[in-house]
Amino acid sequence: MNEDMAPNPSIQCGVCSCAYHDPSNHCCLSKIHVDPMPGASSGKAEDESKCGSYRCRGNC
Ligand code: SF4
Repeated sequence: MNEDMAPNPSIQCGVCSCAYHDPSNHCCLSKIHVDPMPGASSGKAEDESKCGSYRCRGNC
């Protein structure tokens, strides 16, 4: 992770496998973009949207 990045209290996130995730459950990016899930139509949040800024921390 870039050492200039710091946890952003405006973006809470629990995705521990992401390279930008901080143990305080904040994102270390200054901003993110959210993408739609392809083909989704259930109306459930987990089916409709995802973080498009995600980057795998390890060997994903
Ligand atoms: S980039 Fe997205 S998934 Fe990764 S820590 Fe930030 S908000 Fe979470």
